[in-house]
Amino acid sequence: AVVVAGAFGAIGEVIGDLQRASGATERLIELLRTEPEIAAPAQPVALPEPPVGAVRFESVAFRYPARPDAPALEGFDLAVEPGETVALVGPSGAGKSTVFQLLLRFYDPQAGRILFDGVDLREADPQALRQRIGLVPQDAVIFSADAWENIRYGRPGASDDEVREAAEAAGCTEFLDALPQGFATFLGERGVRLSGGQRQRLAIARAILRDPAVLLLDEATSALDSESERMVQGALDRLSRGRSTLVIAHRLATVQRAHRIVVLDRGGVVASGTHESLMAEPEGLYRRLATLQFDQADRFAGNHLSPALP
Ligand code: ATP
Repeated sequence: AVVVAGAFGAIGEVIGDLQRASGATERLIELLRTEPEIAAPAQPVALPEPPVGAVRFESVAFRYPARPDAPALEGFDLAVEPGETVALVGPSGAGKSTVFQLLLRFYDPQAGRILFDGVDLREADPQALRQRIGLVPQDAVIFSADAWENIRYGRPGASDDEVREAAEAAGCTEFLDALPQGFATFLGERGVRLSGGQRQRLAIARAILRDPAVLLLDEATSALDSESERMVQGALDRLSRGRSTLVIAHRLATVQRAHRIVVLDRGGVVASGTHESLMAEPEGLYRRLATLQFDQADRFAGNHLSPALP
C-alpha cells in the first residue's frame, strides 16, 4: 500500500519500497500528483490550537475508486484518545493502511465520518490536518538531496540545530556523521544508499522535527539487524510516548506495549483489547494471527509477524 502525506501539495511521505524500485520515486510522485485532489473547503473550520490529538472514525464505509465493488472499510469505528497508543493488527487486506489513507484525507469515506480533534476532516484544511500528523512508513522515501534536507523535510524551516537534535534523538547521527561529507552527503538514488534501519531512523527524525499531535506508524515487516532494531524501537518509544499513536503492528513487542490492540478483518473491527485479553479468546482471530505469526517470528529472533497469511 502507498500512503502519501504532507508538504509539497498533498505529497509528503510515501509508503512503499520506492528506494528499492530504483528510479521509480519521481515517476510515482508524478503519478500521485495527477490523482484527483481532495477538495479543500472554501471556509475551513479551524482545528483546535494547540492540538489535542483525538481521532474518531464513526461508522465509516469506504471503497477505493478503482475497486467500487470491494469495500475496504465497512461500518468501521475507532476512537484514539489523546496520548493513547493503539495497535492495528489483521490479515493482509483487512484495511489497516486504508485507515491511514483516510485519516490523511487522501480519500473521503462514502458513509460515516472521521473527526480529528472534533472537526470533520471534510471541513478542515487538508494542509493544516496533515501538519498535525506524522507518518513513519515501512520504507521511507529518501530524496536525492543531502541529509540536512532529507530530515528537514519533516518541518521545512527548521534550523540546522533542530535538524541535528532530531537526528540525534532518532539515532541517525552515528551513521550520518560517518558519511564522507557528514550531514552534507547526498543521499538517495544518485547518492549514498541507506539500509532499511537507517531509512527508518531518518523517517523518525522527520517525525520528531514535525512534533505531530498524532503519529501514524507502519512497522517494518522486513527484518532489521538487531542493532538497528534496538535503535529504531528506542526512538519510536520516545516519539510515541504521550502522543496519540496508531501503529500497524507486526511485532509482539509492539502489541504488548500498546494501550489497546484493535483487530481488523475485512474492513471492520472484530475485536479489541490487550494482548492478554485477546489471547484468552480461544476462537478469536487475534489468537490465530498471533500463534501463526509470532511463533514463526520467534524462530527468527525478530518477533515479526509474517507479512502474509495463508
Ligand atoms: P496489508 O497488511 O497487506 O498492507 P491492509 O490491512 O493494510 O493490508 P489495505 O491496504 O487497507 O489492507 O487494503 C484493504 C482493501 O483495499 C484490500 O482489499 C485492498 O486490495 C484494497 N486496496 C488497497 N489500496 C487500494 C487502492 N489504492 N486501490 C484499490 N484497492 C485498494
